[in-house]
Amino acid sequence: FAKLLRKEASEVIRKLILQGMMVTINQEIDVDTMTLVAEEFGVTVHYKEEIDESNFEEQEEIDAPEDLRERPPVVTIMGHVDHGKTTLLDKIRHTNVTAGEAGGITQHIGAYQVEVDGKKITFLDTPGHAAFTTMRARGARVTDITILVVAADDGVMPQTIEAINHAKAADVPIIVAVNKMDKPEANPDRVKQQLMEHGLVPEEWGGDTIFVPVSALKGEGIDDLLEMILLVAEVQELKANPNKRARGVVLEAELDKGRGAVATVLVQNGTLKVGDGVVVGNYFGKIRAMINDRGRRVKAAPPSMPVEILGLPDVPNAGDPFMVFEDEKKGRAIAEKRLAKAKEQERGATNRVTLDDLFKQIQEGEMKELNVIIKADVHGSAEAMKGSLEKIDVEGARVKIIHSGVGAITESDIILASASNAIIVGFNVRPEPNARAMAEQEKVDIRLHRVIYNAIEEIEAAMKGLLDPEY
Ligand code: GDP
Repeated sequence: FAKLLRKEASEVIRKLILQGMMVTINQEIDVDTMTLVAEEFGVTVHYKEEIDESNFEEQEEIDAPEDLRERPPVVTIMGHVDHGKTTLLDKIRHTNVTAGEAGGITQHIGAYQVEVDGKKITFLDTPGHAAFTTMRARGARVTDITILVVAADDGVMPQTIEAINHAKAADVPIIVAVNKMDKPEANPDRVKQQLMEHGLVPEEWGGDTIFVPVSALKGEGIDDLLEMILLVAEVQELKANPNKRARGVVLEAELDKGRGAVATVLVQNGTLKVGDGVVVGNYFGKIRAMINDRGRRVKAAPPSMPVEILGLPDVPNAGDPFMVFEDEKKGRAIAEKRLAKAKEQERGATNRVTLDDLFKQIQEGEMKELNVIIKADVHGSAEAMKGSLEKIDVEGARVKIIHSGVGAITESDIILASASNAIIVGFNVRPEPNARAMAEQEKVDIRLHRVIYNAIEEIEAAMKGLLDPEY
């Protein structure tokens, strides 16, 4: 600070002491103090706030209300297997193509847009929960509305409930498409009744969930469904600012033999343009070309539009955020910083948890949750063990069961344990030979037991620091 003022440190210290601050030469002083002292020397302090943009996905941008424009809703389709998700997605894709484009949407880019009454709707074309779940796991919120497909002849099934829970956790409104209405055994009332038990009450029964009867196969009710999506979207008042640099998320990506790294991205705010420098995940690249869901080259992609982008140096992961950086040098620096951070986190994960050093980690405050994978000979034992382990609470540290299953401990269990820094508890099972070797290599702690009580006691003891060291 003294150097900046072109003064001797002792002069600065004298001024500070005169102000009643007993400082030493190594002491940090705050901005207000600096401003005061500088004024005494007749110097005005200007300061720039240095914003670290390397975690841009966590930095919210506030747009002025006058800059905001309506944007299309982004819709995902979820539901139990075989209830008609793919059929519905295909039908929507093909019924709403304008004549000139007939047969145009042959290109599969993982998402598409249709136009209804002059308004666009974006569909994420990833059947099942894959997109929704992995994106959410990575903290990206992409979906505005979820269509829950329930087959009228089959009713609510396990994955239907799973889908409801995902949507609820993400606070995304649900529209129910009661599918397969063409089937003679279709029973839509039963579907409504069953869904009521999960908090989805139809409007005609006094609730606020929209149910639309459809036949994806015959294409019946699709128009109603699309109307309802627009209705729900209108209530949500979805907006974005198309006149600024783009940001968004990767929907899927792959290495294409001819074209190199190809990623389908969803623009969430701003407008993405060919030639833009962009940080995607941990890499910086310049967008060489963009291709829309009709397989046509486009120059710009506004909010809610999915596009395939070419020109990235490497393949990003689904769920990776992206952001445009006009300044290439800055973009590269940010990508490097992100890569370094990612590597550091990876290294951190090689610091494996073991029961022997668990107590130390808890004490040092490094460990709040012990991740555990349970493998047992029968389902009942796995459940019993899960229940008991989850009840353990030692000084604020808890056990979190990340997976439980039946059968021998496999390589896939080791991979999961290694990726999530978990220990594996086996009950009346053994590791497969390959798995054992891999566990040694990956330093995954496996504990085998024949009595449930012993397994629980061991973990509890480890968390309390009462474990006898193993020699
Ligand atoms: P997903 O697993 O949810 O994607 O289900 P699919 O779209 O693959 O559909 C599963 C099966 O149900 C296929 O044989 C479809 O032809 C059939 N299906 C889908 N929708 C309908 C429908 O509205 N009516 C009838 N009758 N069958 C349908």
